[in-house]
Amino acid sequence: MALHLRGTVLPDGTLRDLWILGDRITFDRPTGEARTVADDGFLLPGLVDVHTHPGSRTEEEARWDPDAFAEQIAAHRDAGTLALRFPGLLGEIPDGLREAPDAPRMVTAGRWLAWAGLSKSADFHLVTDDLVAAAVAETEAHDGWCKLMGDWDFEADPVPYDVLRTVTEAVHAVGGRVAAHCQSAQGVLNAARAGVDSIEHGMGMPEECVELMAAQGAAYVPTLTAFARSAATRIKDNPRSRLWHEGHRIMIRRVREAHDAGITVLAGTDSAPFGNVATEVEHLVAAGLPAAVAVGAASWAARDFLGLPGLVEGGLADVTVYDADPRLEPGVLRHPRRMVLRGRVVR
Ligand SMILES: [Zn+2]
Repeated sequence: MALHLRGTVLPDGTLRDLWILGDRITFDRPTGEARTVADDGFLLPGLVDVHTHPGSRTEEEARWDPDAFAEQIAAHRDAGTLALRFPGLLGEIPDGLREAPDAPRMVTAGRWLAWAGLSKSADFHLVTDDLVAAAVAETEAHDGWCKLMGDWDFEADPVPYDVLRTVTEAVHAVGGRVAAHCQSAQGVLNAARAGVDSIEHGMGMPEECVELMAAQGAAYVPTLTAFARSAATRIKDNPRSRLWHEGHRIMIRRVREAHDAGITVLAGTDSAPFGNVATEVEHLVAAGLPAAVAVGAASWAARDFLGLPGLVEGGLADVTVYDADPRLEPGVLRHPRRMVLRGRVVR
């Protein structure tokens, strides 16, 4: 039987009826009976977290744990996060899990790829001296995305521009996209010049990057939630920490400047707890994004970016329903009243 929902459909903000047939949305009343599962409220195409790394019990000691992965994506779903991008996973998703009827939509990017020339990298990185081959292989094996470490230590030399450029061109040549971790000024600049598709973090981003990213259509995923947590615990009275905090202040400023320049800013949490993208929306608002844009960054704009159509004719049948307008009250995103995922009511 078809499902029927009535409410204010976002982002356009019109009060209307929509129906769900299988895994598709239609605004044309189908013949036959329909079961009404919502008759008022605000309808979103679900929340999206475009930067999350489920699959490990602890962040300190990263080890692939398929059970942890299943629990953590369930936590995302229970919070109304119905689509996820993983810019770096420790292992392969167990068979059948990504198509499970109650699993959020998933976009993977393979492992974190670290160029062997970086002076430092982490245990969980896949270190390679053939970044081109590794990036193309991960892209082809994982939903058309790869994840590059543009740098790691924010005070050390980043991956050189010409290396990033060559890799990005090779990935684009096979129809893929590149997400680049950057948290040093030079690292962000190299990645922006290289034409990567999303800049992750962007701590210390030089001002000229805004124009470069806007011209190339790169998205910006600042993951402010993770940085706010680090900022709260990091001591302030040594030169390294002062540099870190300065980079953090700059990235917050760039969020609003990026939006003003026409860059798509997207919501990613990067860290535990899972199912916490509503907090990232609040950080984006605090950074100066209009609330409607911040909500879109964690919903319809992110779905567009990932190629997952939202509440449009023929869109995928993911809907979350809220009692209040999240554009006026973003906090309501923590309390989805109703959720439909892959055409099935999950709450
Ligand atoms: Zn990350």
